[in-house]
Amino acid sequence: MSAFSNAMRQLELAATAMHLDAYTLERLRHPQRIVEVDFPVKLDDGATKLLHGYRVQWNDARGPFKGGLRFHPQTDLDEVKALSFWMSIKCAVVNIPFGGGKGGVTVNPKELSKTELESLARSFTRAIADVIGPEKDVPAPDVNTTPQIMDWLADEYGKIVGKPSPAVVTGKTLDHGGSEGRGTATGQGAYYVFEAFSRKLGWDPESTTVAVQGFGNAGQEIARLFHHHGYKVVAVSDSQGGVHNEAGLDIPELIKQKAQTGHVVRLPESRDITNEELLTLPCGVLVPSALENTLTAQNVDQVKASVVLEVANGPTTPEADLALAKRGVTVIPDVLANAGGVTTSFLEWQQNMTNEHWSETQVFERLKPIMDDSSEGVLSTAEKYAVTYREAAFILALERLDKAIRKIA
Ligand code: GLU
Repeated sequence: MSAFSNAMRQLELAATAMHLDAYTLERLRHPQRIVEVDFPVKLDDGATKLLHGYRVQWNDARGPFKGGLRFHPQTDLDEVKALSFWMSIKCAVVNIPFGGGKGGVTVNPKELSKTELESLARSFTRAIADVIGPEKDVPAPDVNTTPQIMDWLADEYGKIVGKPSPAVVTGKTLDHGGSEGRGTATGQGAYYVFEAFSRKLGWDPESTTVAVQGFGNAGQEIARLFHHHGYKVVAVSDSQGGVHNEAGLDIPELIKQKAQTGHVVRLPESRDITNEELLTLPCGVLVPSALENTLTAQNVDQVKASVVLEVANGPTTPEADLALAKRGVTVIPDVLANAGGVTTSFLEWQQNMTNEHWSETQVFERLKPIMDDSSEGVLSTAEKYAVTYREAAFILALERLDKAIRKIA
């Protein structure tokens, strides 16, 4: 299953519905630049290993390339291209002045020590230093990349250019120019979006159950927020398996367990389940928060949720999307649902560029209206064109990208 061909099918669908300009469409089918690097990492036993990494710069017509950096054993060029394209759409959906980019290294960081991880981060930074910069291309965290890793990137880049340059990367720790709220922003943003849709479509906490697949940074926060607002979170999973309790899970307890043991399975008073089982459980809202291609033609017919909130990037294949739309399932698309992360990255970048530090309240006071307006924009575009929310989000983004691309063509 190619994430990139899925992304291109999403593009074609929206482009057809809105009669997108032919040049803009052609421009958006191709990245502006693909950087592929082989770079050395020093291992603790003294050996040196060569790793393979990517930075794909999709489009910068609306501003510097922007997007995360992923460390994962399955990461390849196809995946990074898809994610880079989706970042271009995402930044345009929330109307922040950034283009789209993405990076990745094919590696299992869980097998590396802290010193090896630091060597990786610094060496990869040196390998891509020519093409990144605060006003060129600004990386950020993604799957398996932490604020600490972002600090190493910023520090290494600063050494190369000979001056501190915190704005070269977002998602840093607070001590190194990170923003308050960035750590929880993806989950928080997804919850703002869910609330905006709920105001329109009416889901109430008492009668709506939630299942969350993926318990990394974003998955934990969205589960915590649903639980905090009175929804019953009945199932959660991570890469090692999941837990289910019809009466609702104690999410704060589960977050503690995950921090201590690294897994969610074997939680007292709950039943262990597989990831696949989680997707097909009876629940109101299903929240895929892990990787691409989670809801597919193979399992979509067993999905019982009436809402899919896409916190992961690309979790639903076009075939599954079509099947869900036919059944009247509301899919709140990734390019809107998880855009709180990059939006708060923009707020971090603004603080770095102006040497300011805002409180968490100030950050979320800026984030919320952006997520609210973007949700309103997607809801009204869906009505105007009579299309799904994914197509609507794409149309909204493509209208903005079209103006910027044609201006510089
Ligand atoms: N990796 C996140 C995403 O997929 C955040 C990107 C960013 O902050 O630049 O949206």
